Amino acid sequence: MSQSHKEPIDCPHCHARGEFELWDSVNVDLDPELRDKIFNDELFLWQCPNCRNEVFIPFGSLYHDMKNKFMLFFSFEEPERGKYDPLEIPQPLGLEDGYTIRSVYGLINFKEKIAILENGLNDVVIERMKYIISHISYPEISEKRYDLRFGGLNAKEEDSMHESIVFFYLDEEKEEKMILTLPMDNYYEHKLAVKLDPRFNVERGVCVDQEWIANQMKKSAP
Ligand SMILES: [Zn+2]
Repeated sequence: MSQSHKEPIDCPHCHARGEFELWDSVNVDLDPELRDKIFNDELFLWQCPNCRNEVFIPFGSLYHDMKNKFMLFFSFEEPERGKYDPLEIPQPLGLEDGYTIRSVYGLINFKEKIAILENGLNDVVIERMKYIISHISYPEISEKRYDLRFGGLNAKEEDSMHESIVFFYLDEEKEEKMILTLPMDNYYEHKLAVKLDPRFNVERGVCVDQEWIANQMKKSAP
């Protein structure tokens, strides 16, 4: 079940007092509207009842998707230390095997992680693909420090077996969204590579992002 509590808030525009509902945990099977409110940022917006201005209120939450078997410990800010340490998770979470448990920092990363896991994809494989694409296939992406993002799956009409996988980044010079579409086989090749390489074993609750992948790649290959 989802849990929330109310926090008092002073409007920064007109100084009226109000209350904001802060979600400590979100269960999207029971409360699917909360998922939508994350994607349109509404969960983090408070509207002042007096002056009607909107205020963005960053807070962390525990995100639980039972259908797709994943749990995300989300925070806006990265911790000063130990970003890639495994989380000390209270043991009796009562989760079945096969759960993906991650820490996620930043709202863009949070939404991307949800999209990856809702599509039934392995996030380590996706991050490895992103790393190879942006450092080897299209090195200008990493040289210009653009963020490559997961953009979804494409199904060919009448044949769901032949999907392709989409990535995108914003080319800030051209002010253009660049889209890369790869055959699904490419995903499965990376998936096999991840399975065979112990550097990509993830402990529960670890943050898996581009920096984590880069750290693992720097370790000597088995
Ligand atoms: Zn106000």
